[in-house]
Amino acid sequence: MKRLEDLILTKIIATIGPACDEPGLLARLIEEGARIIRINFSHGSFDDFQRSYDAIRQASKLADIPVAILGDLCGPKIRIGKVHEAKPFALAVGDYVELTRKEMLCRRYDDTGMSVLSTNYPAVIDDVQPGHRVMINDGAIHMLVVDRVFADDDQDHRLVCRVTQGGLVSDRKGINLPDTDISAPSLTEYDKQCATWATEREFDALALSFVRRAEDVKQLRGFLKRITPPGVLRPPIVAKIEKPQALSDLDEICAQSEAVMVARGDLGVEMDLAEVPMIQKRVIKVAHDHGRPVFVATQMFQSMIEDPSPTRAEVSDVANAVFEGADGLMLSGETAVGAYPKFAVATMARIARKTEAQLALARDDQARLPKKLRLSRYRTAALARGVSVVAGDLHARFIVMWSERGGGARYLSQSRMDIPIIAATSSEQGLRQMNLLFGVVPVLMPRPENAQAFIDQTDRMLLDSGAAQPGEPVVVVLGEPIGSPGVTNEIRLHYVGDVCKLPDGPVEA
Ligand code: ATP
Ligand code: MG
Ligand code: MG
Repeated sequence: MKRLEDLILTKIIATIGPACDEPGLLARLIEEGARIIRINFSHGSFDDFQRSYDAIRQASKLADIPVAILGDLCGPKIRIGKVHEAKPFALAVGDYVELTRKEMLCRRYDDTGMSVLSTNYPAVIDDVQPGHRVMINDGAIHMLVVDRVFADDDQDHRLVCRVTQGGLVSDRKGINLPDTDISAPSLTEYDKQCATWATEREFDALALSFVRRAEDVKQLRGFLKRITPPGVLRPPIVAKIEKPQALSDLDEICAQSEAVMVARGDLGVEMDLAEVPMIQKRVIKVAHDHGRPVFVATQMFQSMIEDPSPTRAEVSDVANAVFEGADGLMLSGETAVGAYPKFAVATMARIARKTEAQLALARDDQARLPKKLRLSRYRTAALARGVSVVAGDLHARFIVMWSERGGGARYLSQSRMDIPIIAATSSEQGLRQMNLLFGVVPVLMPRPENAQAFIDQTDRMLLDSGAAQPGEPVVVVLGEPIGSPGVTNEIRLHYVGDVCKLPDGPVEA
């Protein structure tokens, strides 16, 4: 076990891309604190994804630190087609643009004086009404639909738009339709292909983009249940909140997903930018009410794509996300295509560590328990409640538990204590998946014979790694037989090295 002394509780997600996919470099990112590596199925081919996958597993071995692989399913992400002669062209205010169902290259002004844009989602054209906004390139270009033209041939249906904010058009830029109810399925054929590919490789989580309602998540879950072979853990689902419709069904979406992500990129185009900070706070709160981890994503260190240090505003954004209770923070272009991927992770880790220390001072145990835990009468919830009180009162150095598939660790993580939870398992998949959980340090261990053997084993690990000093209190959570589902029912106080150096009186704060 490495670097327990400077571990961070917040999970850093790094997106893999050409700037960081060399295994040696990727291993540095992991050593600096990245615990989840994201493969975005929007960019590249299955050959590219395979190379990324191999690089991640190899980097994790090099660093000797387990990491989770998060596959990001594109959902119905609408993009324009490729641009004629691959030459980007400008659209200016007042220009007229046709959005066509035809499969063709995008080009500026044909003989009718009209620029033409094609799309990867021709059917979507039928959903758009005059008066609706069409945004291109992450909201850089704004257009207003002024007319719909129906032709005898379906392929000729098109929308006529007027540009209200100009900008540059280049290959496959995203299209956002903030006013349109899109009939495209949330889980596309390509998503199913990616999900199948990812499940075959035991990905540790799958994110679903553009979730509109809880039903979308249920659909993916149903699909994953059908394709996951017996004995393999189904990848948890991370619902990306980036559509206004999702906010109306937020409670149920959180209930149906294993985790959620505030995907601020598309959210900031689909909604008024000024609302994004409030939405972030709200999503974090609702996710926590349901005991779900929540990740904050996009542009956290945007300036670090080019510069070696972040702006003051970005530093505050990262720290505030931790203050607000984000379980994880994501880097996108910063690590995928940026010039300083390692610095980006290291800087994020440093800010998270400092902010967590501040949070620890302001701890109020009961207030932190999520509603679901406070109300639940489940054994595991009751145990988690008990552990948070005992570990807090004792100023425990660590909480140690056996969590074969990560279920127990998930409950303890929800209490959001500032005490790291060392979660041991003999399952490689359980080990990797636990990287999604705030405060959890997953550790691979042969399954011990009994409770005492487990305590002896962890005791040795803590002393050998220098993570704890003799006499430091540790709260052990377990059940016998170790590793059997549903047996965790015991909280033991243990002093590392079996030495009790604490006086038998009140513990000094
Ligand atoms: P999403 O909406 O899913 O976040 P995105 O297009 O914003 O999609 P990100 O993964 O957030 O993609 O990455 C931000 C930018 O970094 C992308 O727009 C793209 O320009 C670049 N990028 C990311 N990954 C890759 C990659 N594997 N290869 C090339 N460019 C990439
Ligand atoms: Mg993005
Ligand atoms: Mg997005």
